[in-house]
Amino acid sequence: MEPLIELRGVNKHYGDLHVLRDINLTVGRGEVVVVIGPSGSGKSTLCRTINRLETVGSGTITLAGEPLPAEGRELARLRSEVGMVFQSFNLFAHKTALANVMLAPVKVRGRKKEEAEARARELLGRVGLAEHADKYPAQLSGGQQQRVAIARALAMDPQALLFDEPTSALDPEMISEVLEVMQQLARDGMTMVVVTHEMGFARSAANRVVFMADGQIVEDRVPEEFFTAPRSARAQDFLSKIL
Ligand code: ADP
Ligand code: MG
Repeated sequence: MEPLIELRGVNKHYGDLHVLRDINLTVGRGEVVVVIGPSGSGKSTLCRTINRLETVGSGTITLAGEPLPAEGRELARLRSEVGMVFQSFNLFAHKTALANVMLAPVKVRGRKKEEAEARARELLGRVGLAEHADKYPAQLSGGQQQRVAIARALAMDPQALLFDEPTSALDPEMISEVLEVMQQLARDGMTMVVVTHEMGFARSAANRVVFMADGQIVEDRVPEEFFTAPRSARAQDFLSKIL
């Protein structure tokens, strides 16, 4: 499999806190990697680091073979190849769903409005929101807002998507509608890194489960093996609490 995202020897500190410890991770094109681990283990930092929203102390990050530079235009270009979906949907409140999805393609990519709108409508259809294109975020449920956020990320035609606990802020009845959209993206071959505690999703959609603790990758295995026979005491302890 062609490696799309590669981290080699990545370390990061916040002051005295060694938050990412010698991270080595390869995500192949079309692969779905679920990242799990206790709160504070560095999962969000890992996501932000992949997208260089955080600087790193040492190590290299490459995207499709190109090293991510620390700053500049080249970083902006490569960063836009990796879409992010956060726990809080961060939609613009005074813009409709459609306008939210069109914004970056028009502003950042310089697409024509008509073209961006047609694509945005298509993407809203893909996440099951064709009928809600003209609604404002406040008129949508949390699950619907998160699906708009996914459509917005897709509108930039990213090579990969990172999800940081995309369902953690949702009421239980809305979680499945978001997970179903993510399942479909996975089936369509999207490369995805997903931080989630949704073990059903991990089992059914992930090619690999990465378990983090104290800033380290402790296990990196196929889901079936990880869930049935975790090797490390940390993973066994974690699983016993959440399953
Ligand atoms: P997770 O997503 O697994 O819960 P995080 O990546 O958010 O973990 O955080 C890892 C560690 O880094 C935690 O101890 C957290 O308190 C700390 N941390 C995260 N962001 C910052 C920051 N901006 N400044 C200082 N410490 C931070
Ligand atoms: Mg987090």
